[in-house]
Amino acid sequence: MPSKQPRISFEYFPPKTADGREKLLEVTTPALNELNPEFFSVTYGAGGTTRDTTCDVVSAMRSQGIDVAPHLSFGGDNEDAVGALIDTYVERDIKRLVALRGDTPSGMGGASQLVYANELVAFIRERTGDHFEIEVAAYPEIHPEANSYDSDIGFLKAKLDAGANSAITQYFFNVEAYFYFLDQCSAAGIDKPIYAGIMPIINFANLARFSRNCGAEIPRWICQRVEGYGKDQDSVLKFGIEVVTQLCQTLLDSGAPGIHFYTMNQVEPTREIYRNLGL
Ligand code: FAD
Repeated sequence: MPSKQPRISFEYFPPKTADGREKLLEVTTPALNELNPEFFSVTYGAGGTTRDTTCDVVSAMRSQGIDVAPHLSFGGDNEDAVGALIDTYVERDIKRLVALRGDTPSGMGGASQLVYANELVAFIRERTGDHFEIEVAAYPEIHPEANSYDSDIGFLKAKLDAGANSAITQYFFNVEAYFYFLDQCSAAGIDKPIYAGIMPIINFANLARFSRNCGAEIPRWICQRVEGYGKDQDSVLKFGIEVVTQLCQTLLDSGAPGIHFYTMNQVEPTREIYRNLGL
C-alpha cells in the first residue's frame, strides 16, 4: 500500500507595499502553487496591525481559487471586531484559520490585551460551528513564556480540545526536540496531527535575532559553519538548503505527518528544498 503523502503548506506574511503585493500574488504564488501544497497561510501582525492587509491578501488568493488560511488573534480588538472579521472570512469562502494568542507589538508595552488561543478557538467554534478547519501553534522547544514544558503541552491540549483540528510547530533545527515533543503530546492524550514548521535559512543575522525572541534554538554547529562563510551569502544559502533538506528528509522518513514551510514570501529556497525531497 502506498504510504499517505505528507501534508505540505506554505506560509506568507502580508506584504507592506503595492509592489510586494503584486509580486506575491502574480509571481510567488503561481510558482509555489505549482508544487501543489494543501494550503497557504498568511500571518496576522502582532496586535492586529495587519488586519486589512492579511484580509486583502487572503481574499485575493481565494478569488484565484487557492485554499488559504488567514492567521488570527484578538490583538487589541474586542469580540465584535474579531467576530466581524471571522464573518468576512466566511463570506469570502475561507475555510481555514490559524488561531493564535499573538504577541503585543513592540513599543505598546502591556497596553493590549492578550486572549489565549484556546479562548479564540472556542470563540470561533461558537460563532461558526464546523465551518473552519482550525490550526493552532505548538512549541517543541517550549513557548518562551511557558511556566513549564508540561504546562505548555497542557495548554496545547486545551486548544485542541476547544476544537482545533491540528497544530503547526514553531520552527526548529533539532529534530530530536520535535519527536520527543510528539511522544510527550501523545502521552498527554493528544491524538491530533502536529505538523513540523520549517524555516529555510535565508538571512542568517535576522534568523538568529528572531530565534532568540521566539525561543527556537539554532545549533552551535550551524552558527559556526555560517560564521565561517563570512560575507559569502551564496555559500550560506547553499549550506542552508543542504541542512534544511536533511532536516526535512529525516522528519518525513521518521513519520512526521507533514511540513509547513515559513517561506518568507520567497519562491527559493523553499522550492529547491521541496525538489530535493522529491515531493
Ligand atoms: P497560547 O497558546 O495562548 O499560549 C501563550 C502562552 O501562554 C504559552 O506560554 C502557554 O503555555 C500559556 N498559556 C496558553 N493558554 C493558557 C491559558 N489558558 N492560561 C494560562 N496560560 C496559558 N504571531 C503573530 O503575531 N502573528 C502570526 O500570524 C503568528 N503566526 C504563528 C504561526 C505559527 C505556526 C506559530 C508556531 C507561531 C505564530 N505566531 C504568530 C507566534 C505566536 O503568536 C506567539 O508565539 C505567541 O506568543 C503565542 O501564541 P499562541 O497562540 O501559541 O498562544
